Amino acid sequence: MLLDGPQRSSTTVSNSDSIVVSSAETLRRLLSTLANEGLTLPVVPGVLDATVGGVLAADAHGKNHPVRGSLRDVTRSIRLVLPSGEEVECDRDRNQDLFEATIGGMGLTGMIVEAQLDVIAYGGPNASVEVLTTPDLESSLEQLRQLGQRQEHVAAWLDPTAPDDAFGRGIVVGGTANNHGGNENRSWNFSRALPFPPGLGGFLGPTTLRWHNNFRYRFAGRSDRVRSWKLEQLLFPLDRWSNWKRIYQPRGFHQHQSLIPHSCCQQAIKKLLKIACSGALEPTLVVLKCMRSGGGWLSFPEQGMTLTMDIRADEDSPEILRRLDQEVAEQGGRVYLAKDTTLTPELLARMYPDLPRFLELRQRIDPDRKIASDLSRRLDL
Ligand SMILES: Cc1cc2nc3c(=O)[nH]c(=O)nc-3n(C[C@H](O)[C@H](O)[C@H](O)COP(=O)(O)OP(=O)(O)OC[C@H]3O[C@@H](n4cnc5c(N)ncnc54)[C@H](O)[C@@H]3O)c2cc1C
Repeated sequence: MLLDGPQRSSTTVSNSDSIVVSSAETLRRLLSTLANEGLTLPVVPGVLDATVGGVLAADAHGKNHPVRGSLRDVTRSIRLVLPSGEEVECDRDRNQDLFEATIGGMGLTGMIVEAQLDVIAYGGPNASVEVLTTPDLESSLEQLRQLGQRQEHVAAWLDPTAPDDAFGRGIVVGGTANNHGGNENRSWNFSRALPFPPGLGGFLGPTTLRWHNNFRYRFAGRSDRVRSWKLEQLLFPLDRWSNWKRIYQPRGFHQHQSLIPHSCCQQAIKKLLKIACSGALEPTLVVLKCMRSGGGWLSFPEQGMTLTMDIRADEDSPEILRRLDQEVAEQGGRVYLAKDTTLTPELLARMYPDLPRFLELRQRIDPDRKIASDLSRRLDL
């Protein structure tokens, strides 16, 4: 199968367990194309309009990281154009250093033009989902771990506006694709996203956030524990809304994502949530997921829990983000570079032990820094 569209993206199914795909392909198009062949990607982040090149550069992960790993774990090889213009094939045998530096390397080693990725059988667009409400942080963490034993895609939403005695309460959701819908319609059929009303951002404040979270928590506990969902609702919840970022108008928002080792995760998550809640508005979205260890030199995944918080951009948010970065470093964790806006070179070095290898390689292949970004300039990469 060859798909060739206006964006010059293409996908070739080379055999039933891998594909060769252009880096310009979006996940939305790729998943739709693969579904027609009864196939899918084992790992997808929660964003359909990202490109293959972008998710490889971030070594993105999904809600099934403990089961399947990150993009790197399902990548057989990449074709890379180096800053010199030379084109090279990289995998775990050939140019292994470039492979490990590029996946997760935020585009700083060159342009990925093509990748060979693993694919698996696609079970259809439905999922059986378990939804559990949890009264506090300890049980949110415990349920997250337990649900991960029986479901593939698992994440917890926490309510940062809950009263002190219910601090860390949340909704833990875990699901696995199934084929209960039958074989007749196995495509994704991505729903048309609902438009987000303009001007809604004006209503976002501490009272409305508290009201929304309280309603969401109580409503989740009222329906059946086991439900049937569309898989896209489980994997790409935000893509159900077009323009959802309008809620943060006019100033936008930051997303802070960190990884906390298991040994200290309960008290570290408590501290990080308290810091994030010290601003003008509590975080609008807080999500926890489990992770296993990763591999690439600047890859984010490592054993532990990952905490993601959406923080509305206010006057005090840069300071809050800096305090979060500092606390993550003190807990022996790391911040996800794909979401970072405030890390410093010193904190980066504490968080990513393979940084010296990355810098040595970058100096070798790009001594004049032909490739640079705001991130690379701020972090001395
Ligand atoms: C709504 C939302 C949900 C998300 N959910 C998740 C999630 O669940 N898990 C997760 O891990 N991440 C998640 N992300 C982050 C996302 O995976 C990364 O930001 C990813 O890099 C986005 O890809 P993009 O194509 O938009 O890249 P861009 O934003 O265009 O670029 C991101 C980086 O990739 C580099 N890059 C892009 N293309 C190439 C290429 N061809 N060769 C080399 N470098 C390249 C760029 O230089 C840049 O450094 C989410 C993001 C959003 C907006």
